[in-house]
Amino acid sequence: MCSVCGCGLPDAEPGKPAGAAARQHEHGNHGHHHQHEHGRDHGHDDPHDHGHDHGHHHYHDGDGADENAAPSTVEGHVHGEERLLRVERDILSKNNEFARANRTKLAGLRNFALNFVSSPGSGKTSLLVRTIGDLKERFAIAVIEGDQQTSRDAERIRATGVPAVQVNTGKGCHLDAHMVAHALDDLTLAPGGLLFIENVGNLICPAPFDLGEAHKIIVLSVTEGEDKPLKYPDMFAAADLLLVNKSDLLPHVEFDLSACLAHAIRVNPRLQTLVVSARTGEGMAAFYAWIEARAGLLAAAQAAAAR
Ligand code: MG
Repeated sequence: MCSVCGCGLPDAEPGKPAGAAARQHEHGNHGHHHQHEHGRDHGHDDPHDHGHDHGHHHYHDGDGADENAAPSTVEGHVHGEERLLRVERDILSKNNEFARANRTKLAGLRNFALNFVSSPGSGKTSLLVRTIGDLKERFAIAVIEGDQQTSRDAERIRATGVPAVQVNTGKGCHLDAHMVAHALDDLTLAPGGLLFIENVGNLICPAPFDLGEAHKIIVLSVTEGEDKPLKYPDMFAAADLLLVNKSDLLPHVEFDLSACLAHAIRVNPRLQTLVVSARTGEGMAAFYAWIEARAGLLAAAQAAAAR
């Protein structure tokens, strides 16, 4: 995730919306902070470590320091890895607060939100364009598009006739719930509609970030390796549905579909899987049936909770 890979380093992006720039900055400070702390703490090899299980660090051999003498410096002596975990926890707990608020807002509008995650180039936007074309008579649909730069995908979505908001993450490698909260402010959601969130193309960083969605859907195309579920297990574990896309290309590529599905199920036994082609439409009816069934389940659960 971002605090580990350092992807959110502050870097003012000209032309970015002010809010996004501010969020980027805030996010980046975390990354910078932790990187600095991490390096320095490891450099210390300080014997005053507390609050972790590296027992040998509690002993020191005659450097004259008293373990109990300087409680005010305990914070600075916490082992770098512990600090790293704390920064991650803080980022994620802050994110989860926004995600809860998003979920409450979406429930109030009886909207069913899906968070699409994948590597770059799996065909997420094409899949959404096809899905919107086939479902927009039955559902009001709105889209949040996440990309590092450009509004190309939001423009492709708007060409289908549904509203779309583009979020540019700049140096950031994933959408977070705060960004989605701002995007929701810019969208007029119709009650009972569908909200599609297309995350930044990245199989690692979006995994731990709840955006307030009902489900994460992972899209993997047959032009990728069938061993990706094993290489990037966190994302497959976080998802509820795997769409193996570009099935029309199966005769032309060396992609072992059954091995891919077996790997995915091994990583996440409750993962549902569908094989689809957004280009030819193969398998898409099953995907639409999945959406309708899950949206219905969520609506029933929300109605029960409201009684
Ligand atoms: Mg896209």
